Amino acid sequence: MTFLTISRLEKSFGANRVVKDFNLEVEKGEFISLLGPSGCGKTTVLRMVAGFELPSAGRITIAGKDVSRLRPNHRNIGMVFQAYALFPNLTVAQNVGFGLKVKGAPAREIAARVAEMLALIGLPEMGERYPYQLSGGQQQRVALARALAPKPQVLLLDEPLSALDAKVRVSLRNEIRAIQRELGITTIFVTHDQEEALSMSDRIVVMHQGVADQVGTPFDIYNRPATRFVAGFVGTLNTLTAQVIDPASGHVRVGGSDLVLGRALPGGEVVLGLRPEMLRLGAEPGMASLTGTITELDFLGSVIRLRLDLGDQRLAVDLFNTTRATPPRVGDSVTLALDPADALVIGA
Ligand code: ADP
Ligand code: MG
Repeated sequence: MTFLTISRLEKSFGANRVVKDFNLEVEKGEFISLLGPSGCGKTTVLRMVAGFELPSAGRITIAGKDVSRLRPNHRNIGMVFQAYALFPNLTVAQNVGFGLKVKGAPAREIAARVAEMLALIGLPEMGERYPYQLSGGQQQRVALARALAPKPQVLLLDEPLSALDAKVRVSLRNEIRAIQRELGITTIFVTHDQEEALSMSDRIVVMHQGVADQVGTPFDIYNRPATRFVAGFVGTLNTLTAQVIDPASGHVRVGGSDLVLGRALPGGEVVLGLRPEMLRLGAEPGMASLTGTITELDFLGSVIRLRLDLGDQRLAVDLFNTTRATPPRVGDSVTLALDPADALVIGA
């Protein structure tokens, strides 16, 4: 059953249309990410779901009820922001209990719920501390506990990991996802970080200039990007111009190599998208091949990253470092194998 629906949502600030015909259906317990570059409208969508911003048009429903015009405190939503928005003058326990206190819950009930939440975030002994006595990662866990304490129907997270250093960020990804699963709470997570979105989400909404370009599983978004923007924004993508030799069989010529893609193409020129990891060193039976010269080689341990000249075009290739293979060298002319089914046709 669809738990949260956003239909035909629009938001303009003056003449600036920042959210355009935004539609989304979220299942109960689902973890959805809004992914896109800075300024594309992610926070604005989230703030409209929370009720901090009213839509210019469109509807938001939660559990079948239209909440579009309700005030934030009537929507039963928990929110976590990028900057630690903890109250600095309150203890951790008082921060976590804040929402329940505002609702007028009895002290004993608040204390029990606070203890439960602190255990959930793995900080059971920290109730008497003040925010400044905690690390950034601990503060964000407390912010999460504070958002969850009143048992919201929906959890909204706006770049909650962006201000943290890399290691903490990765461990908190897993922790947030584990807590979200344990509670089964419907969650919308905003990020500009594709790795965060790919690793955490049930589904991702890729946003671009106020529009949802594609909604899909991480696998779909990466492997079957719906637009050129999605293809370029999520993951690394080589874009190569190819001359179409035979539209029916998908025979194209790219930088001096011939590929048969096995699917119909328009005539003239097309733009092919190739992920660096789609290519392997050496010719393989049944596979298409590209020939080029290595201009750069970065040894990264598990991966060897190459740059090649293919005639007049450039290609980045990531090879797995297998100990059996003799590594290629700069200046080598090499053949690369490609499954033609992998090649993305991202524009004509
Ligand atoms: P994101 O979170 O994806 O970085 P935002 O939703 O914060 O993007 O902003 C989208 C656009 O809306 C930006 O161009 C921003 O300047 C504009 N915007 C956001 N909030 C306001 C506001 N209160 N008044 C005017 N313009 C705003
Ligand atoms: Mg934002």
